[in-house]
Amino acid sequence: MIDCPSSELRKLGLSDIFDDDWTRTIYSVDASHCAIKPLAVDFPSDEYDVQKICTYANEHNIPITSRGAGTGLLGQSLSDGIILDFTKKMNKVLEIGDDYVIVQPGVVKAILDMELAKRGKFIPPDPASSNYCTIGGMVSNNSSGPHGLGYGSIINYVQDVKLVYSNGMMGFAAQKKYDEKVSKMLKLILPIAVDIKKYYPNVSKNSCGYRLDAVFDNNTINPQRLFVASEGTLGIITNTRISIRDFPEKKSLVIVKFKDILDAVSAVPSILEHGPVAMELLDKGTILEGWKHGDSNDNNSCIMFVEFHGDDNSIYEQVHQFEVHLQRKATILETGHDKNSVNRAWSERKNSLNSAIKKGTGSRKPAGLIEDTVVHPDILYDYTIFLLKMLDTYNLDYVVYGHAGNGNLHLRPMIDINSKESDSFMNMIANKVFNYVADVHGSISGEHGDGLLRTKYIPMMYGSRMYDIFQKIKLIFDEKKIMNPGKKII
Ligand SMILES: Cc1cc2nc3c(=O)[nH]c(=O)nc-3n(C[C@H](O)[C@H](O)[C@H](O)COP(=O)(O)OP(=O)(O)OC[C@H]3O[C@@H](n4cnc5c(N)ncnc54)[C@H](O)[C@@H]3O)c2cc1C
Repeated sequence: MIDCPSSELRKLGLSDIFDDDWTRTIYSVDASHCAIKPLAVDFPSDEYDVQKICTYANEHNIPITSRGAGTGLLGQSLSDGIILDFTKKMNKVLEIGDDYVIVQPGVVKAILDMELAKRGKFIPPDPASSNYCTIGGMVSNNSSGPHGLGYGSIINYVQDVKLVYSNGMMGFAAQKKYDEKVSKMLKLILPIAVDIKKYYPNVSKNSCGYRLDAVFDNNTINPQRLFVASEGTLGIITNTRISIRDFPEKKSLVIVKFKDILDAVSAVPSILEHGPVAMELLDKGTILEGWKHGDSNDNNSCIMFVEFHGDDNSIYEQVHQFEVHLQRKATILETGHDKNSVNRAWSERKNSLNSAIKKGTGSRKPAGLIEDTVVHPDILYDYTIFLLKMLDTYNLDYVVYGHAGNGNLHLRPMIDINSKESDSFMNMIANKVFNYVADVHGSISGEHGDGLLRTKYIPMMYGSRMYDIFQKIKLIFDEKKIMNPGKKII
């Protein structure tokens, strides 16, 4: 057991640090089923506080873990060391420009959205948890959301990051300006830059491992992207500059009902040809009361939200073509062109994971682990058949929804999470699913990340050569491996 450092840290001028049992218990959980009691929790005021804690922790070999809102689904923000919570004091919007915003990591996404909306701007990645989650957490998990189809994940928007490393050194990474550690990392991976894509999945979103493929993208070098999806294992982000976009002038949402999930996923490739910016599937256990229109009460039916954005009236022709295309495949339940009805429908959709997580009685719950796989949309139908057969073999009920246009399914089998066998059973299921996904060049995580639960599967996804590089990168930035241990690197 490591000694509690709070009194020593107070002597260094850190006043907002707590090690009482109540605080430690609150911070022992996140949105996963994991629990680890930390040593202490600190609320830093600025990067100098972060620097003091890192220097101390490095000297005494104490783990340091950053935390936003704790909505990570895989235990990412849990550790037995010192937790740094950025939501209390490092939560400011520092500057808004015409095409960028500079923020501290603890700002809540919905609060930033409101500030940007006043100027007709937005940051497209929109996790369903955006009323709570922070920019620091979004960047560190490479979060996305329904509109990831049209606009990409947060990795596409991060222009720079300011950091504190585990030894207390300050760092910086942007396209043409970066510190010595980043430069060392670039030298290490430069030899594999030409064919790096062959080690990475053929999908439109990926939060598994370190995103070296995104560092070398379109003939530019973007070292800041190494820290996106890195789950606070390489450095602590104290400030970041993010691209912002103008709101589209027009939005149209079509809500469609398919006979069942297989009908829905088989339609995905042809729907993609119509250029939607979102294509969301709501199936078993996640269809909300509001969408149980008439005969869609049928438990096998599957609903899809398909959204189009545009800046002129041509969007209405685009929607019309889509509806004509769909006529013989599905039933159109509603079409909305005004912003209020579109936004109302999305706020209903936002609740689907909340609604899914609450399913089950007692300890029989929808379990995570295989809840975020992605395959290329062209093979989503075959993959769904594989999943349904496997669930049938083990007689498992399940909930499923997801970002169908990206091939990203949030599927959770219902199991007794308190039973002795639950861990080994879920690992057996995960091995089957992740092997399939790796074989078809998919990813075991599209947006939720790896955390405590999925890290051990990263070598299976990337193979030993790439995993060896991940380990070397970890040591460049965090020699003693004290920064959020157990995540990304075993
Ligand atoms: C109901 C629900 C719905 C969700 N829907 C979506 C969805 O639609 N799309 C999606 O992508 N995700 C979704 N998520 C997952 C989760 O909300 C996102 O990953 C979110 O961005 C995490 O943000 P957070 O502030 O809660 O981060 P935390 O959970 O607190 O932390 C996440 C990771 O970020 C690291 N971190 C935090 N701050 C820093 C920092 N300053 N420097 C370095 N590392 C840092 C932490 O150490 C941790 O590894 C959902 C979760 C829930 C519970």
